[in-house]
Amino acid sequence: MGRLKIVRAEYAGACYGVQRALDLTLETAESGKAVCTLGPLIHNPQVVSELESQGIRVAQGVDDCKDEAVVIRSHGVVPEVIDVLNERGNEVVDATCPHVQRAQRAAARLARDGYHVLVVGEAGHPEVEGILAHASREGEHCTVVGSVEDIPDELTEPVGIVVQTTQSHQKLDQIVEALQARGIEPMVKDTICFATVQRQDAARDLASSVDVMLVIGGRNSSNTTRLYEMCQQCGNAVYHVESAREIDRAWFDEVSSVGISAGASTPEKQIQEVVSYLETL
Ligand code: SF4
Repeated sequence: MGRLKIVRAEYAGACYGVQRALDLTLETAESGKAVCTLGPLIHNPQVVSELESQGIRVAQGVDDCKDEAVVIRSHGVVPEVIDVLNERGNEVVDATCPHVQRAQRAAARLARDGYHVLVVGEAGHPEVEGILAHASREGEHCTVVGSVEDIPDELTEPVGIVVQTTQSHQKLDQIVEALQARGIEPMVKDTICFATVQRQDAARDLASSVDVMLVIGGRNSSNTTRLYEMCQQCGNAVYHVESAREIDRAWFDEVSSVGISAGASTPEKQIQEVVSYLETL
């Protein structure tokens, strides 16, 4: 086989918020404190087990936190969780992504100003629950809207919108248009984060210009899985791997170029391991 050309997508791997959460967690542990994360820090099994091997425990809920520093994940939490931890005297390491905090603040402000707040996002997702709870503290009309069908028949005007950071502009536009069709002009706080879109666009561009595409990241990471599915649509061979160990050399027989993409929850180290392995082929 000739030398394999390895091309990395322009945007790939850990986003700002995920990297920040990892750094804050490790810094806290390095300072000698006992640390737990409230739920798995990110959707990446390798990272979670690596943290566990450094003594950083996953707490299943507030009641499972001992006398430890408690890391709040990048998704954020409902404000009561932080209140309870403070009351109990736990140190809170708030790794809520600043983009998520912006959405929480925007929701609270709209509710305080008397808007019926529509949170566009996936019901039950921790980030959405957190945003909703920030709004519900300030006003009584707050609703999660996953699609146009979820828009309530009864709306108290004025109507304000905030958006889960990983939602698409297409979804937001559909909801705004449905409201406008009812004669309602909502106040839109566009809190979508570009990290996801940038990774998707870059992966799609690359997938159509290489022979084989590798998408690196947890199988339980929805943004990684979405990248994989988008690359599959480009027609070339695509493999989703969690680590270099899963790579089969046979994938690269008769192949001259391989593209690399990785989800927003995939740390740089995992990408580098895959690249180093490919360089040995
Ligand atoms: S995807 Fe965006 S909002 Fe979510 S953690 Fe990453 S940077 Fe923050």
